[in-house]
Amino acid sequence: MRKTVVVDQDECISCGLCIESVPEVFRFADNGKSEAFDQEGAPEEIIQAAIDGCPVSCIHWKE
Ligand code: SF4
Repeated sequence: MRKTVVVDQDECISCGLCIESVPEVFRFADNGKSEAFDQEGAPEEIIQAAIDGCPVSCIHWKE
């Protein structure tokens, strides 16, 4: 099964980087933090780039 991407919202600083780079997967939730709303929105390597680019490293894969 494909891995699931999750945002640790306690750590997210709402910089918007992941949402700008992969809007097909990430968006701002009502609480102003990022959330992964569409797991199938982009290929894994594109999501990985967003994970690597998060300044506080709060996006993770969950097996
Ligand atoms: S890049 Fe990281 S800190 Fe910035 S909005 Fe996305 S999850 Fe939050």
